Amino acid sequence: SALYRIDGWGAPYFSVNNAGNITVRPYGTDTLAHQEIDLLKIVKKVSDPKSVGGLGLQLPLIVRVPDVLKNRLDSLQSAFESAIQAQGYESHYQGVYPVKCNQDRFVVEDIVKFGAPFRFGLEAGSKPELLLAMSCLCKGNPEALLVCNGFKDAEYIFLALLARKLALNTVIVLEEEEEVDLVIEISKKLSVRPVIGVRAKLRTKHSGHFGSTSGEKGKFGLTTIQILRVVKRLQDSGMLDCLQLLHFHIGSQIPSTALLQAGVVEAAQIYSELVRLGADMKVIDIGGGLGIDYDGSKSGNSDLSVSYGLQEYASAVVNAVRFVCDRKSIKHPIICSESGRAIVSHHSILIFEAMSATAPTTPAMNQVDLPFILEGLSEDARVDCWNLSQAAMRHETESCFVYADQLKQRCVEQFKEGTLGIEQLAAVDGLCDLVSKVVDASEPARTYHVNLSIFTSIPDFWSIGQIFPIVPIHRLDERPEVRGILSDLTCDSDGKIDKFIGGETSLPLHGLEGNGGGSSGGANGRYYLGMFLGGAYQESLGGVHNLFGGPSVVSVSQSDGPYSFAVTRAAPGPSCGDVLRVMQHEPELMFETLKHRAEEFCGQDHGNEGTHAALVSTIARSFHNMPYLVAASPCSLTA
Ligand code: PLP
Repeated sequence: SALYRIDGWGAPYFSVNNAGNITVRPYGTDTLAHQEIDLLKIVKKVSDPKSVGGLGLQLPLIVRVPDVLKNRLDSLQSAFESAIQAQGYESHYQGVYPVKCNQDRFVVEDIVKFGAPFRFGLEAGSKPELLLAMSCLCKGNPEALLVCNGFKDAEYIFLALLARKLALNTVIVLEEEEEVDLVIEISKKLSVRPVIGVRAKLRTKHSGHFGSTSGEKGKFGLTTIQILRVVKRLQDSGMLDCLQLLHFHIGSQIPSTALLQAGVVEAAQIYSELVRLGADMKVIDIGGGLGIDYDGSKSGNSDLSVSYGLQEYASAVVNAVRFVCDRKSIKHPIICSESGRAIVSHHSILIFEAMSATAPTTPAMNQVDLPFILEGLSEDARVDCWNLSQAAMRHETESCFVYADQLKQRCVEQFKEGTLGIEQLAAVDGLCDLVSKVVDASEPARTYHVNLSIFTSIPDFWSIGQIFPIVPIHRLDERPEVRGILSDLTCDSDGKIDKFIGGETSLPLHGLEGNGGGSSGGANGRYYLGMFLGGAYQESLGGVHNLFGGPSVVSVSQSDGPYSFAVTRAAPGPSCGDVLRVMQHEPELMFETLKHRAEEFCGQDHGNEGTHAALVSTIARSFHNMPYLVAASPCSLTA
């Protein structure tokens, strides 16, 4: 597990058991050994054709562990509660979950349910997000906040005011100055007293990727001039008492508590100025930014790592707010945060299968037919070949690469001219591979073909280079003997993962059975990898490139039964028909068209009706199945 730094990024939820499999401890360190859930057992159980209503689920698979979600919420809440108590802070913490991080119905419903004892609320940034937040919070704690962020039109503001009428604790946070006029006008029409917040554009700048929109020139929020104009506008309308919340967000993955404190202090100063100007301020909302240590280094020196934990984060926030308010003799506000990444990242694990790997292509020395190669080569290429062999004998690595490159280039030119046959070109490739292997003893990374779409399931890797821990979920008691990169199913050169935590450009991997040997740790020759810490943003950002839809999803919780877990929810991923529908195709009509065509071309073939029926049912099945590959031998795993 040290090879994959699991103890760093995985603690306290993930570790490796005696069988060499990754396990989940839903309650982190508060757990007993027997409460660990073995991920391989989950995969075996849910992909068994006899399980999940006799269907078995196809991979890729998202395994959700709602208890991890609960533990994240409880831990965040208690980090703030203990900072509040330790520092004698005279108000409370009341967080909200920004639904954009993962809008899955069950994730949001679970958060509302788990957070109800401590009034945990939701944040929405668009009209559909507001609709889902409104309906979910109807079942939650009535004091939970519903923070309405994002750019707004009259319809959005109408909905948010309606939510207040429905006794939801809604705050409309002004993202743009013009929104204030709409709020004043519509609230009067609806006879609702709104609760208003302003999002401040802070000068504190987060310099990482996720902070590119922070700072004075940032995309979001109101400048000091605009905030003052909003105050005046509300005052003129007799509504300054409605202004009760100050919000800011300097970006996700805040790397250090020093930067966090700088932002909170600046915001707390604005907060206290709003109090001085007569607003009825109650809440300081510090946005998101609570980071995740994806590479387990705790270094805080890249977008991949933060140098603090939950407790340090909470203590820094409470300390900064208290410091400013005490100096200005202002009542301590309720502290709200909008942590998304830190709440949902750990609870969801993406599991996918490596279907095949490129075998090493280097021929053995006795397979190189030098006379045959030389026969077809031009004079210049023959000289390169000679030089290459001399350099190889003298172990002059650099020269070998230079002559090999030159030789290959000349041969490709000859091939394009039509003066070199494909067999000779292949033989030259083989010779060059062999020489580079001899002089540079390290084996090149193999390509593992994985049954996955990176664009659908790990979109941040493709779009912003975000790196997540990826690890085989079994065979961790065996030393991985090769290194590999991962190549997905899409017909796209970007559909590969060749950057891993720790700055690595390949991943230590085990040989696939029948393709390099090795046992499979009880997985019947299958080789499963897990992508961890991807519960935030990946599901909501993923697209349908090449029409690969999302993975199957299961939720598991601990149980005392023989497996130590129970599958509480299971849903197959979108079928081919489902993803076609996303692009406005009509699978039912498409099926009818193909069926008629089959009748026309195969149905008339008397005595061939069995074939015709089989054809039609294959077409029907193709619409119902997921777009991912089905392994050649049907899965017959038993847990
Ligand atoms: N709040 C706002 C306004 C955001 O824009 C974001 C995301 O960038 C968040 C909260 C969530 O941030 P994080 O995922 O870092 O917790």
